[in-house]
Amino acid sequence: MTLAANLENIRQRIKAACDRADREPNSLTLLAVTKSQPPETVKAASELGLLLFGENKVQEAKAKIPLCPGRLRWHFIGHLQSNKCRDAVQLFQMIQSVDSLLLAQEINKRAGEAAKTMPVLLEVNLAGEASKFGYKPQALLAELKQINALPRIEVHGLMTVPPWSPDAENSRPHFRRLRELKAECERVLGAPLPHLSMGMSGDFEVAIEEGATMIRIGTALFGPRVAAKARAAAD
Ligand SMILES: *Cc1c(COP(=O)(O)O)cnc(C)c1O
Repeated sequence: MTLAANLENIRQRIKAACDRADREPNSLTLLAVTKSQPPETVKAASELGLLLFGENKVQEAKAKIPLCPGRLRWHFIGHLQSNKCRDAVQLFQMIQSVDSLLLAQEINKRAGEAAKTMPVLLEVNLAGEASKFGYKPQALLAELKQINALPRIEVHGLMTVPPWSPDAENSRPHFRRLRELKAECERVLGAPLPHLSMGMSGDFEVAIEEGATMIRIGTALFGPRVAAKARAAAD
């Protein structure tokens, strides 16, 4: 399948999921995840109307973004190390993966140096998987006010990656829990949070039904990533 056909297929599935959930498709943003994809692929996607892209490694993004059309927007979706925060605030319009006060403080400091304000999402590890980064819900609620008080940080919402499963329905309770946790955060902050970033190639329709405002799609758009292809070949 071509990229154009994949995108059309995804747009139709988004529309159908929105219809089921009685939502407007424009209440939802599609973020194209281009990790391991070359700048040519980003350019082709942008020519099909995609404007928002996601990367999970700062080094890869630093090499790639300057080779891509300048009008695009980029979100960081991977684990961020403190020593990469300076680059990250320069490269990205949002960091979706803040998972500690310490990291938020470092982003705040680097954003200040760059005379910027950084929109962020707080990443939540709802299933408590040891292999994944992200806040446990209680820890998030404990640190939320301190993060929100940082002058160069704007908290825009929550992000999660549920445990991998071949059945999208298994993601539903996690998506529902993230939506509830966002409501708890809004009560703590006394202000609305606009974003719930949840849903990937395998489960985005369920995420839309559960209130996602941003879905992050890689393989359903671009096909298997190179590393995944190499692994499949080695099996
Ligand atoms: C890779 C990645 C995605 C996209 O995953 P696909 O299953 O390829 O759609 C979404 N979110 C995060 C955080 C990722 O690392």
